[in-house]
Amino acid sequence: MEDPREVAELVVSGNVRAAARLIRDLDDGLPRAREVLKHLYPKTGRAHIVGLTGSPGVGKSTLTDRIIQHLRAAGQTVGVVAVDPTSPFSGGAILGDRIRMQRHATDEGVFIRSLATRGHFGGLTASARAILTVLDAMGKDYLLVETVGVGQDEVEVAATAYTTIVVTVPGLGDDIQALKAGLLEVADILVVNKADREGAERTLQDLLLMLDMRKSAHDPLAWQPKVYLTRAKDGEGVGELMAGIREHQAFLAREGGRALRVARRKQVRQELLELLKEGIFSRLVARLGQNGQLEALLDDILDRRLDPYSASEEVLTRYLRLG
Ligand code: GDP
Repeated sequence: MEDPREVAELVVSGNVRAAARLIRDLDDGLPRAREVLKHLYPKTGRAHIVGLTGSPGVGKSTLTDRIIQHLRAAGQTVGVVAVDPTSPFSGGAILGDRIRMQRHATDEGVFIRSLATRGHFGGLTASARAILTVLDAMGKDYLLVETVGVGQDEVEVAATAYTTIVVTVPGLGDDIQALKAGLLEVADILVVNKADREGAERTLQDLLLMLDMRKSAHDPLAWQPKVYLTRAKDGEGVGELMAGIREHQAFLAREGGRALRVARRKQVRQELLELLKEGIFSRLVARLGQNGQLEALLDDILDRRLDPYSASEEVLTRYLRLG
C-alpha cells in the first residue's frame, strides 16, 4: 500500500477505486488503512448522515433507492452503507450489489458499500463509522446508513446518523413493541411504509399517539419527530419524506449548528471511549500473554491461591496504574 497521505489525497479527490480499495483494506484490518483514516478525518463533517432502521422486509432498501433517486434529481451526491451482520457473506461485495440499488451502480454520484462483518474496530458501529469517514471525505452530500433494527448494535449504528429514520409497516405489532422499548428514542422521523396495505392509517394514528404521550415530558424546543406514510414500491410519499429529512437537517443547522454539535458530541464521546476500550484491552492482553503471565495467573486461580476478582484488580493496578 502506498503512502497513507497519498491514498487520503486520492480519496478526497473522489477517486472511486482508491476509496473502494481503502474500504477493503479497512475490512481486512490493515494498520496502514487505519493510518489513512487519520488523514481523512479533518476532511469530514460536510455530509449529512441519514440512518434508516427497521425490521427485515419493511422496505428499507426500496426506500433507500427512492431517496437516492430524489437526491440525484436534486443534483446531490450520495454514499450508502448497508449494514447487515446477519448476512452470510463476509467482506463487502454482495450486499453492496443489492438488486434494488443496482441501477445506481453506474452513476458516479452514488457510491454504495456494505458491511456484513463486525470488522476490526471492535464493533459494528466503529466499522460503519470508518466507512462513513471514507465516504464523507470523498465529498458526498448525503450518506445513507441502512441497518436491520433487530439488535442493540444495529440501533446504535442508526443512532450515529444525524437524522435517524425508523421504518415500520402496517400491522406489525412487534414493531410497535420495539418502538416502545426504545427505538422511538432514536427516531427523528418515523415512516409507515407499504401504505397501500390495510391498517396504514391506524398504524399512523398509533404512532402519533405514542409520540404525543412522549412530547409532554420533553423540552418544548426539542425536535418533535414526524411521521410519514410512504409506498416505497411506487415512490408515493417519498417526496414528503425527503422534505422532512431536509427540515430536520435545517433544524440541526439552526444557531450555527448548535443542536448538531450537541448530538455529535455524544457520538464523538462514545467513539473515543470505544477506541480506548478496544486499545487498552488488546494491549493488556498482549502484555499478559508475555512470559506466560496469563497462564500463571490462571493456575493461581485454579488452585485457589487467588480469586479472579483480586487477580483482575491486580493486573489493572500493575499495568494501568489506576489503583
Ligand atoms: P428491507 O429488508 O427492509 O430492505 O425491505 P426491501 O426493500 O427489501 O422490501 C421488502 C419487500 O417489500 C420487497 O418485495 C418490496 O418490493 C416490498 N415493498 C417495498 N415497499 C413497498 C410498498 O410500499 N408496498 C408494498 N406492498 N410492498 C413494498
